[in-house]
Amino acid sequence: MRIDILTLFPEFFQSLLNWSIIGRAHKSGIFKLNCIDIRNFSENKHRKVDDYPFGGGTGMVMSPGPIYKAIESVKGNKSRTIYLSPQGKRFNQKLAVELSKEEHIILLCGHYEGIDNRIVENYIDEEISIGDFVLTGGEIPAMVLVDAIVRLLPGVLRSSESFIEESHFKGLLEYPQYTRPREFNGHKVPEVLLSGHHGKIEDWRKLESLKNTLLKRPDLIDQDKLTKDDIDLIKQIIKTDEKDKL
Ligand code: SAM
Repeated sequence: MRIDILTLFPEFFQSLLNWSIIGRAHKSGIFKLNCIDIRNFSENKHRKVDDYPFGGGTGMVMSPGPIYKAIESVKGNKSRTIYLSPQGKRFNQKLAVELSKEEHIILLCGHYEGIDNRIVENYIDEEISIGDFVLTGGEIPAMVLVDAIVRLLPGVLRSSESFIEESHFKGLLEYPQYTRPREFNGHKVPEVLLSGHHGKIEDWRKLESLKNTLLKRPDLIDQDKLTKDDIDLIKQIIKTDEKDKL
């Protein structure tokens, strides 16, 4: 996979390439990351890339010319061009999985008041948001996408099971995890995890995963996708919860 990031701050991404898992994946050539400075495409002698908004208003808008040229400098037949924007569709694990199958992704980072809308309308495949809040620039959102996508590429994590079991992959949150010591400040690890009984551990994890989701993010539970086993487990969770309240 190749990822091209179009930005006014290419240095920003150096830290991403020096980090543990993503940095290692880059060094071993699992993906290529290329940062393009949009200012290089400015025709202004001061490398200006923004201008006042037509119609008035505060702030500056990124001009279409340099952005268009930056996109054209990397775009090919198989590119998926994404503008990071608070107006885009919300990024999630499903979208990360979908994007991890692409050969070439272009991530356009806006700044100031955003970019000239003619770029959005004519040269972008989609807008993606990392949440319903507004940041100063698209660089952090681009880093979020790169991290979430790259860790799904074959060979990046030790085993694909690592992310299949994780929160959001199957629509549920992950079960709780524990490591040594067995007892910490008097708090014990759940007994079943020390039993060595794989069947029981699996059942416990399934129950805890459902419980976690019900308690922390009930909005994630898609009732149409629940199996009869899941429904029985939920009934069991509710019963135990009611008993605890008595
Ligand atoms: N005026 C724009 C609006 O109200 O929609 C917001 C512009 S924002 C201050 C500047 C840039 O930050 C945007 O062009 C975008 O690239 C990025 N950005 C801000 N919030 C974002 C979010 N939640 N997700 C993705 N990108 C975001």
